[in-house]
Amino acid sequence: MAIQWFPGHMAKARREVSEKLKLVDVVLEIVDARLPISSRNPMLDSLIQQKPRIVLLNKADLADPVETSRWQHYFESQGHACLSINANEGIGIKKIVPTAKELLAEKIAKQQARGIKPRPIRAMCIGIPNVGKSTLLNRLAKKNMAKTGNMPGVTKGQQWLKTSKELELLDTPGILWPKFEDEEIGKRLALTGAIKDTLLHMDDLALFGISYFKENYPKQLADRYQLSEADLELSPVDILLLITQKRGFKDDYDRGSIMIVQELRDGRLGRYTLDKVEDLHEKDND
Ligand code: GDP
Repeated sequence: MAIQWFPGHMAKARREVSEKLKLVDVVLEIVDARLPISSRNPMLDSLIQQKPRIVLLNKADLADPVETSRWQHYFESQGHACLSINANEGIGIKKIVPTAKELLAEKIAKQQARGIKPRPIRAMCIGIPNVGKSTLLNRLAKKNMAKTGNMPGVTKGQQWLKTSKELELLDTPGILWPKFEDEEIGKRLALTGAIKDTLLHMDDLALFGISYFKENYPKQLADRYQLSEADLELSPVDILLLITQKRGFKDDYDRGSIMIVQELRDGRLGRYTLDKVEDLHEKDND
């Protein structure tokens, strides 16, 4: 899905999310596990404020597991609950309900003490486009698509998906924009396919990917394209040309670039993470 974000759309998206937020007890903030910071919306913290939140590191199947567990610790240290999930396969999503219950334990206990009958927890998903919101909703609602409309406090046309006795989800996720202002973040989003139409040239993206893998995942790069140790010493441009030739595209490095970017997006070079926890500390020290 391609969304063009203009100021008017951004204001509307923000308004819609803040309206929906009033209806829920907990927010499921979905981010891409390969980019747990770059794929977050820059305004979300100020929109959500103190509302309990579970950060879901989705597409964990594509991310570097070592980095994913570092990110999990990071978000926990920030006071959020955090789960690593794979919405495509439904891995990790069973933990969402117990985690939400834990976050809301105090509120639920208070209600019970006042004799209020426990009702299902109400939640909504929020995230940038392509991060897996619909996939997660479908997964969670798979066995129970029955919608419960006409409830008090429900915006007209707003439906709840009963995912279990304990959790109801707003059927439309909150869609917010990514942090595309920063060029480095734009490159990371584009390389993973989080944004598809980009002003960046494919060769710039491919070179960015090659440089990153040369530095961080050299074995995965070498294995995919049968590069020798000496090949890995070449400059990213020369590596791009070499891979292009090896694939039979002669010197058509535009074609080579498109192929490399596609393979990176599809996870053919193995699992990787582009945002690192230590980048945050570097920024703190600036
Ligand atoms: P939305 O725009 O946030 O609703 O994103 P979608 O649910 O449409 O998902 C975007 C793409 O990501 C689809 O091609 C999904 O199949 C894919 N996707 C979603 N979750 C996962 C996941 O956990 N792992 C992988 N590998 N792909 C996923």
